[in-house]
Amino acid sequence: MAKFKFKKKYGQNFLKNETIIDKIVSSIDPLPQDMIIEIGPGSGALTRKLKNYGCQLIAFEIDEDTKQYLLTLEDDKTKIIYGDFLESDITKLFKKYDYERLFILGNLPYYITTPIIEHIIDSKINHESLTIMVQKEVAERFLAKPHHKEYGYMTVLLEYHYDIEKIIDVDRNEFYPVPKVDSTVIKLRKKNSEPVDYEFFKTILKESFQFKRKTIYNNLKKYDKSILERVLEKHGNKLSDRAEDLPLEAYIDLSKSLNELGN
Ligand code: SAM
Repeated sequence: MAKFKFKKKYGQNFLKNETIIDKIVSSIDPLPQDMIIEIGPGSGALTRKLKNYGCQLIAFEIDEDTKQYLLTLEDDKTKIIYGDFLESDITKLFKKYDYERLFILGNLPYYITTPIIEHIIDSKINHESLTIMVQKEVAERFLAKPHHKEYGYMTVLLEYHYDIEKIIDVDRNEFYPVPKVDSTVIKLRKKNSEPVDYEFFKTILKESFQFKRKTIYNNLKKYDKSILERVLEKHGNKLSDRAEDLPLEAYIDLSKSLNELGN
């Protein structure tokens, strides 16, 4: 990697531990008729091993300087798209491919963790799972259970779409150059979510968590108090609880009950 100029702005910290690379790659089990999207292949540490699955593999890499590593990995099944994954229209792009299941995977820059996840969710592309490396504290937040202070808007939003599992903790020294934080690889397995008015569901979530120290009643004061009380009671909650005390099911229920009446 002597010739490579690492770019901080692209969050370039390349993995050097083979055991960790193997663990990430084996968190998925694609068959030849399936498809993998990799985000941010960098020098191709994961890409090289992902190719062994023998299925279609499309990787998005923003930095053309990585061509020196990635060019040799391209073939009729492996394609690198140089560009910003966040700007890509994946739904449109993947319509032209014929595959059974889609697996998404990436060791991404930490500052775009949430935008990347939202980009994938909002694209509505059908996928089996999303395996990503995130900052350790972010993984704790994503995996938090109700009544914990880490439990927040993203925790509930992710739980709505996925079953979340921790794959492995990764010490900062496993990267070159060494980043300032430790990481955790998590796997988000897509689940059949209960249908809701998704925009309204997100609005209720955002409003509930807007002031984390306020009670749920105060955060949702503009809605009908009796409906709010009835729904909360059904889930073992009360008006004086905080947003972090409500399980996903309560938010789903709230978004349905408050919406029905055009509140
Ligand atoms: N996958 C490699 C590894 O594990 O060693 C590299 C990981 S490095 C943390 C993140 C990679 O994502 C870099 O190669 C960076 O250039 C690329 N990247 C950053 N922002 C991106 C974006 N918006 N779209 C696509 N790739 C991006």
